[in-house]
Amino acid sequence: MLFRSTKAVRSVCRITPMMLQSMGIRGLLLDIDNTLTTHDNPEPAQGVEAWLASMKAAGIQMRLVSNNHPPRVEPFAERLGVPCICDSQKPLSAGFARAMESMQLPKEQLCVVGDQIFTDILGANWFGVKSIYVPPMELETTAFFKFKRFMEKPFLPKHYETEESK
Ligand SMILES: [Mg+2]
Repeated sequence: MLFRSTKAVRSVCRITPMMLQSMGIRGLLLDIDNTLTTHDNPEPAQGVEAWLASMKAAGIQMRLVSNNHPPRVEPFAERLGVPCICDSQKPLSAGFARAMESMQLPKEQLCVVGDQIFTDILGANWFGVKSIYVPPMELETTAFFKFKRFMEKPFLPKHYETEESK
């Protein structure tokens, strides 16, 4: 189903090397806004930097793949030390494809992580890679976003991975 993620967690920080290992994942394609921090916030959310370090230590490759523009994405990527793809036009595949090429990993070993069903999750399914859904950190206030969040409701995961089930 195009709108369903492979897994769902309450926060990116709940993604563990063990979980990725059990999924056969060696590379993450990470959304930024409302996944690693709130919209347009130059600071990563609490715990995110330590989580990124734990992923790097486990040998997990990462790329930031964002639909946002270079002035927002590039300084954030530099701050985190993770390469980025800006203006990726998710759910279209081109941004993911560029990231994959730079990671030298097969699709089976890649996983998209993001907070939007119709960009991140749909994009992962179209591209043919696994996905982990995270709920948005902060609900948006614009009419367009409110509409998108309303439309997402039937597709939101019913089950979230817990610490015990990782
Ligand atoms: Mg997002």
